[in-house]
Amino acid sequence: MASEKKKKVNDAYRKEFPQVAEELTADAENGLSKDEAHKRLKQFGRNKLRETKKRSIWDLVVSQVNNPVIYLLTAAAFLAFSFGDLPEGIAILVVLLVNTIIGFWMEFQAQKSMEAIRKLDRIEAKVIRSGNQVQIDAEEVVPGDLLIVEAGDLVPADSRIVEATELKVDESPLTGESVPVDKNSEAIKEEKQVADRTNIVYKGTAVTAGKGSALVFGTGMDTEVGNISSLVEEQENDDTPLSKKLNKLTTNLIWVILAMAAAFFVIGWLAGKEMYQLVQTSIAWAIAAIPEGLPIVASIALARGMFRLSKKNVLIKKLSAVETLGETTVIFTDKTGTLTKNQLTVDTLYFPGDKLLKIDWHSKEKPTVEGGESGEDENYRQILRIAVLANDASLPENGEQRTEEEDGHPAGQGDPLELALLNLVKKVDPDLFKEMEELEREMHDPFDSDSMVMGTICAENDEYYVAGKGSPDAIIERCVKILKEGEISDLSEDEKEKWKERNNELSEDGLRVLAFAYKNTDILPEGEEAEDFLHDLIFVGLIGFLDPPRKEVAKSMEVCKEAGIKVVMVTGDHPGTAKNVGKQVHLFSEEEGEDRVMHGKHLQKEMNDGNHQKLGNTQVFSRVDPEQKLVLIKHFQEQGEIVGMTGDGVNDAPALKKADIGIAMGKRGTQVAQEVSDVVLKDDSFDSIVVAVKQGRIIFGNIRRFVMYQLSYHLGEIILIALISFTLFILPILPLQLLFLNLLSDVFPALALGVGEGNEEVMKMPPKDPKEPIITRKNWLQIGIYGLIIGGAVSGAYFYGHFVWETSEEINNNIAFFSLAFAQFLHVLNMREAKENVFNNQVTRNKYVWLAVIFCVVVLMAAYFIPVLAEVLAFVSLGSREWLLIAVASLLPTIIIQIIKLFRNDF
Ligand code: ADP
Ligand code: MG
Repeated sequence: MASEKKKKVNDAYRKEFPQVAEELTADAENGLSKDEAHKRLKQFGRNKLRETKKRSIWDLVVSQVNNPVIYLLTAAAFLAFSFGDLPEGIAILVVLLVNTIIGFWMEFQAQKSMEAIRKLDRIEAKVIRSGNQVQIDAEEVVPGDLLIVEAGDLVPADSRIVEATELKVDESPLTGESVPVDKNSEAIKEEKQVADRTNIVYKGTAVTAGKGSALVFGTGMDTEVGNISSLVEEQENDDTPLSKKLNKLTTNLIWVILAMAAAFFVIGWLAGKEMYQLVQTSIAWAIAAIPEGLPIVASIALARGMFRLSKKNVLIKKLSAVETLGETTVIFTDKTGTLTKNQLTVDTLYFPGDKLLKIDWHSKEKPTVEGGESGEDENYRQILRIAVLANDASLPENGEQRTEEEDGHPAGQGDPLELALLNLVKKVDPDLFKEMEELEREMHDPFDSDSMVMGTICAENDEYYVAGKGSPDAIIERCVKILKEGEISDLSEDEKEKWKERNNELSEDGLRVLAFAYKNTDILPEGEEAEDFLHDLIFVGLIGFLDPPRKEVAKSMEVCKEAGIKVVMVTGDHPGTAKNVGKQVHLFSEEEGEDRVMHGKHLQKEMNDGNHQKLGNTQVFSRVDPEQKLVLIKHFQEQGEIVGMTGDGVNDAPALKKADIGIAMGKRGTQVAQEVSDVVLKDDSFDSIVVAVKQGRIIFGNIRRFVMYQLSYHLGEIILIALISFTLFILPILPLQLLFLNLLSDVFPALALGVGEGNEEVMKMPPKDPKEPIITRKNWLQIGIYGLIIGGAVSGAYFYGHFVWETSEEINNNIAFFSLAFAQFLHVLNMREAKENVFNNQVTRNKYVWLAVIFCVVVLMAAYFIPVLAEVLAFVSLGSREWLLIAVASLLPTIIIQIIKLFRNDF
């Protein structure tokens, strides 16, 4: 069997599944064995569309060499050789090599962190192996695997369905058709198009409802999506808008300086200056002008930030998201699980005849029901029945596993709300629980956020029992009768209103409320009727759940307020419950409450009326369906907001895509939601969003800081060269010296600034305007002033040596070089925010900054003391008065700039 290279099943949709299983040498019941799966993985390869274009070492080298700085330096080396300056030529080549190695190393680091993050972002698949269901990396699915899929999953491979219960799949990635298609296991006789093969699920499509099992017959490129080349194309492009902007900035600078150097060259030539000196000076200009490695330091800063966030439960899926995070102005958050703990417990049962039962959970093992001899009550009995029957969750079997999480909440599979119901019934009436569990389920109408109800039909004796639960408004509309003190009577419109009112009351108390209803019937519904069988029901009562708010959220709300970020709750739940939770997490204060809540049904009207003010002030949108989320995002985006949106369900996917930052829940969220979002919160917590926003802002601030740092001393270098060479027609600093110096400070201090941890202030400022460039007008002004001060101070030292001491050109050159070098290293300290303390600020607290500066100084001094290097770099022995001058000239700029910062606290 292993002899054939590819196990191809042709036309799997036209065969019965046992035949497909046979052709695959697979077992449609117990799945493959572990060994066999392992063998097949080797044989067929990993289940992925293409190597995520991994840049090879060679690519990295090429991208290092292929850059304007390298061209310029090569030209410089070539010129040095042609003018017979051998040491200079060789030295330039050495620097070039070192430069390439450093650049390569940095790219390599950035790539490594990116890969580490990608590894965290993988999709899992459920398969049966040797009879047990296991979760594996979706890339390890092999032909012959027996796959389990359910609502919310992404189908990992092309598979023939073996069994399906109300399975619906959104195949839009393949067919463009976004209406989910029904799937079943029946073989099809005639030939059909991909879109009509109803017994096949395709890789990359999304399960929107139901569940099923299927036999994998095609993996990796050997699938329908694999055949569609456009989909396979490289999805991830790491070139962020930010690095594009930086690249453009660098390129622009190069052109400006080249023009200036050319002008200098022409003037000098016309003035009859010596050719070699002119050439050298032009080269020095060029080197001084090019801020090396801006884009790469930026990507390192971004990658590091992502890496840091991944340790804080936030997975960033796109590099560019980091930047957008820092610009976020509105966060739309859902309630359950994000603002609350999603650990529900049944608190209240409310029945006709104004019977109110409270559940006392003081003893978790034996909760007590308070408020009446409930055992005899027919409503009580029915609601417990419905609670178990209209339920898709499952508690772990007794004895097989622990039944509770450490914090006392029921373990098990499924919606916490449904688990809470099972948990209650199992504890207050174990016999009934068992009896209900054993009933055969005939039909199922799964929960969806549009209908807000779910239900089942079970066979009982010779009848069928229809059990339904859902949002009270929705359930009450589906009821015609009411069960009251053992009697069934008609449910009048009046009474319906009364029950809706009672729902409001319970909700206002902060409870999440569901209504329960049932009916008995003789026949099973068929056809369209079977899709939606919850009607003409008998109303039984309400259950109120407690879902405690997450304690930490209130603090994060305050942080958002200070940071100028508006938080808006968008929930499918009742306005009362939403408002109550909103207050508890400090979304708004007690007094503000009333006018901050808008019901989903009023949304469209307000939108049509163009009531922007009112919409803008609303902080809770309740009873909102997924489609309205999309409308909300559009509206706010049109108002110029940068919108972050959380979501978990399959039908949240469009909204998650539409938002500027789609935030999916890692625990609660479906694979589909995670796939389309930009950020995944591993812990589902609102706090993590705030952490991510903060990190986004810090990273942007860091990038701005090192860009300013580099540009300002580069400008200082240009000014120095311009001042001296235009007045004295001497080149104050040799190209090689500049190259050496910039190699140090362009990399180490800049990199250190790039990974700084920011300060607390970042969350006290309004979000950055996305249109705001990296370097604003004010920043340019700062750069100009910094550059002038540095260039001026160093030129001053040069002039002093030249005119006052009348020292030799070599010594003056050395004075200028060392003054510039130390001034440049010290200048990193000027990158604090003006509002921060001179000695204790984000730069001085950054240990990397100190390490970088010390490293640079050590390398510099080593070069001075090691004769060979000193000779190449034209260092001469300096006396103490020269060193004193150097000390003054290099300290002066930082002292002046810090004094300016003390007086102008916006500088
Ligand atoms: P949210 O989780 O933000 O409240 P959903 O769209 O998930 O929004 O739920 C909308 C409403 O549907 C809920 O307020 C509740 O009344 C009802 N509901 C939620 N889950 C279930 C469920 N498993 N079964 C029946 N009804 C449900
Ligand atoms: Mg929900």
